[in-house]
Amino acid sequence: MYPSRFRYEAPRSLAEAISLLHEGGEAKVLAGGQSLVPLMKLRFATPELLVDINNIGGLDYHREDADGTLRVGALCRHADLERSALLPGKQPTMAAAAPLIADPIVRNRGTLVGSLCHADPQGDWASVMVALGGSVVAQGPTGRRTIPVADFVTGPFENVLAPDEIAVEAVVPPHRGTPAGGYLKLERRVGDFATVGVAVAVETSGGTVTRAGIALTGVGGSTIACTEAAGALTGQALTPQVIEQAADLAAGAAKPRTDHRGSAEYKRHMVRTFVVRILSRTGPAAGEQAAAGQPGPGPEAERAA
Ligand SMILES: Cc1cc2nc3c(=O)[nH]c(=O)nc-3n(C[C@H](O)[C@H](O)[C@H](O)COP(=O)(O)OP(=O)(O)OC[C@H]3O[C@@H](n4cnc5c(N)ncnc54)[C@H](O)[C@@H]3O)c2cc1C
Repeated sequence: MYPSRFRYEAPRSLAEAISLLHEGGEAKVLAGGQSLVPLMKLRFATPELLVDINNIGGLDYHREDADGTLRVGALCRHADLERSALLPGKQPTMAAAAPLIADPIVRNRGTLVGSLCHADPQGDWASVMVALGGSVVAQGPTGRRTIPVADFVTGPFENVLAPDEIAVEAVVPPHRGTPAGGYLKLERRVGDFATVGVAVAVETSGGTVTRAGIALTGVGGSTIACTEAAGALTGQALTPQVIEQAADLAAGAAKPRTDHRGSAEYKRHMVRTFVVRILSRTGPAAGEQAAAGQPGPGPEAERAA
């Protein structure tokens, strides 16, 4: 099917893009187009105005500030993050997730920020960013505001952006300890959306977890933040008992439905298995070995078929 008729604008500055959105009417921002264009072709989205931000310079970065804050610009593609030299040492959970998003063609165009805005319950980046305590920076006619990713998504395919706001970057706060963690995804075939996805991000110091985040993809109406499971890790050493307890709590937080991809019971079991697997392989010992320049198992990045 062809999209319905729309006006197309490709501004060269953020100010111009925001002023186009501010004109009113149903407008959509076009970033990688990997979710929006299929929706338009199916006529599930019928914007009157498309504001293509790809001609706006300076939005394709991912970089670390002096204080360790990580910033991902609105035009940073999944592939940029997959090939990043920065992420493996700084953000193992992001490094693990990037190669698991879709397929190489989608990764070449699609963006992390676009994925957060799209708010698909099966989007992988939202869980990763929730586990990391990340935020979205939105810019509108009156300036910028920062919204935690956990509050940014209000439901399936819904976010808190005003019609004349653009998400300009995603931000991950600096880590205080040694970062470790990973992302595991159960998919029917390579490149598919998650049947179950689990993001785990921990920071450790002296063998103790100083911060933890666990979030789930595809096992509920939106990304699930497993706050109780993360709380069970904080202040603890990653012993088998502590890991098992967190895994049980994460599995309990999942709200899977039985469908053609598997039973609710099976999906819950996979959540538990993934939490145990990530934490067992990327515990503090591994992270601190890596920080000391010794070989460790590296970030957890594995598809599970
Ligand atoms: C075949 C296929 C397989 C896929 N598999 C996966 C997968 O396994 N895992 C996964 O996570 N995703 C998957 N995706 C989705 C993909 O990751 C998209 O890239 C992502 O969801 C949207 O990013 P985008 O940059 O393409 O956004 P677009 O398609 O350009 O936009 C998506 C929505 O977000 C809005 N938007 C985008 N950027 C901004 C912004 N800066 N400010 C305000 N609003 C904005 C748009 O208006 C639109 O409503 C898949 C897509 C396809 C086509």
